[in-house]
Amino acid sequence: LVSRKKKAEDTVIQLGDVTIGGGKPVMIAGPCSVESYEQVRTVAAALKEAGITVMRGGAFKPRTSPYDFQGLGIEGLKILKEVASEFGLKTISEIVDPAHIELACDYIDVIQIGARNMQNFELLKAAGDVRTPILLKRGLAATIDEFVHAAEYILSRGNTQIMLIERGIRTYEKATRNTLDISAVPILKQETHLPVLVDVTHSTGRKDIMAPCAKAALAAGADGVMVEVHPDPATALSDAAQQFNIPQFQEFYNQVKGSGLL
Ligand code: PEP
Ligand code: MN
Repeated sequence: LVSRKKKAEDTVIQLGDVTIGGGKPVMIAGPCSVESYEQVRTVAAALKEAGITVMRGGAFKPRTSPYDFQGLGIEGLKILKEVASEFGLKTISEIVDPAHIELACDYIDVIQIGARNMQNFELLKAAGDVRTPILLKRGLAATIDEFVHAAEYILSRGNTQIMLIERGIRTYEKATRNTLDISAVPILKQETHLPVLVDVTHSTGRKDIMAPCAKAALAAGADGVMVEVHPDPATALSDAAQQFNIPQFQEFYNQVKGSGLL
């Protein structure tokens, strides 16, 4: 069902007056984790000022270590909702438990399925049973075919509102956190009708190359770019090394916008 052969026209995701896919690319930004009301509010104010319409922020964090910050859970979703309504932003947040999918629809505009859960089939089925748009991340070591099949799980249950996001894959290369597979963008655009985005934060893990990588993604046909921003990255409870502070984000955004690709 996700195949272009089944449906030639681009799937377009409508989040109120924000459109993703089928035209002008979108920039999605926000903190790795929702840490507090003030933290999210500070980022939201900066995003609003820059003209960003979609904010991300993790409330359920899939951390490598059980001793690391696990996220604020439902409380985090409540913070996102409150701040988003104040600033008129759309929101994206990761859900990790099938039992939380329905509830999440009351708080956020897009449900993210993280890389570690790309083949959590019960989670995919639950995501297919609601009508809230889904942002599906490519697995850490997933082939494009596996990625497409994961999206098929969602669409086959009736949820047609799916966006794919390339977030880098594991390779032998150590210069970046993961290897950004830019070729996935045109392949996914050709083979599926779904919007395709690129997460430049988790793929590269390097702030110094995020702007050129974002431009490369857009030049390759991506429908949007996602990036992490935190008011004070040094104190961030997750991904401290790779989040932009607000001035760095503004500089990044200006560079990408200056390319004319956004
Ligand atoms: C995230 O976007 O917050 C995240 C955890 O990313 P990924 O699932 O791609 O590692
Ligand atoms: Mn992160």
